[in-house]
Amino acid sequence: MDLVRTFADARSRYRGRVALVPTMGYFHEGHLALMTAARAGADTVVVSHFVNRLQFNDPADLEGYPRDLARDLALMEAQGVDLTFAPPPTEMFPMEPLTRVKVSGVGDGLEGLFRPGHFEGVATVVAKLFAGLQPQVALFGRKDAQQLAVVRRLTADLSFPLSIAGLPTVRESDGLALSSRNVLIKPEDRAAALLLSQGLFAAARLVESGETRAGRLREEFTAVAYSLDIDYVELASQDEAEPIGVLDRPSFLAAAVRVGGVRLIDNVTFDLVGGQVMADLGVRLDHPSLLYQ
Ligand code: AMP
Repeated sequence: MDLVRTFADARSRYRGRVALVPTMGYFHEGHLALMTAARAGADTVVVSHFVNRLQFNDPADLEGYPRDLARDLALMEAQGVDLTFAPPPTEMFPMEPLTRVKVSGVGDGLEGLFRPGHFEGVATVVAKLFAGLQPQVALFGRKDAQQLAVVRRLTADLSFPLSIAGLPTVRESDGLALSSRNVLIKPEDRAAALLLSQGLFAAARLVESGETRAGRLREEFTAVAYSLDIDYVELASQDEAEPIGVLDRPSFLAAAVRVGGVRLIDNVTFDLVGGQVMADLGVRLDHPSLLYQ
């Protein structure tokens, strides 16, 4: 595996079909699942490893974001990644970018309301990665369902010639969605953090028994997670990430909570297959995450 610092150096090492996995590092099995899927469908797998300051609206969050490139390099090597693109800030931002990508509507609700500017930061850097690395496919996690909607829309709107793949959320064996931020959860807050996924699963069970009203799903979530500091819980369309009142199209029930100073997001996704609602609750590990090794 090669570690490259510039867009041009990355492109000069390509052969065949190129898959990109954009990340901010500090890997867990959710990232590794994206790399495995990328490996299966491409000749060259490039993983970008860059903590994007544009998408942090809270300086303390940016400062405290876990980082360990040496650890991540070993994990990528084991995963069969070909190229790690870890640019210095001067490569990503040779100048303060005056051109910003704002995906109106899609990035405004849910997370957008609580993290002003977040999706503009994400979309701007994702567009730079697509333009600079020119992959044929880019892979993202459904864990960040609104981000996936933003990326799909910017790809279509700006005619980037690549396809976007969205992969299921990887979870701890007890259901907690994997996140690099989980290492910041204090042991005494771990049980409370679990209520986030449990509330979403309870709502998904209601859906499986025929419930389609968003209000009832939100109530079900809140009945389980009432002791948490809840930023929002919303049923939203997959395409527009726009809140909807009735589950009548591909959608996701997303929630954000704060547990002991750590902000966590999660969702369950609903697809319509032959008129039937199918809940995607993600996949569970059968062992503790490598985050704790
Ligand atoms: P991040 O490094 O947090 O920016 O995430 C990089 C990519 O990994 C994004 O596409 C995320 O949606 C995805 N990702 C993060 N956590 C998970 C997870 N638990 N399961 C699947 N994908 C994930």
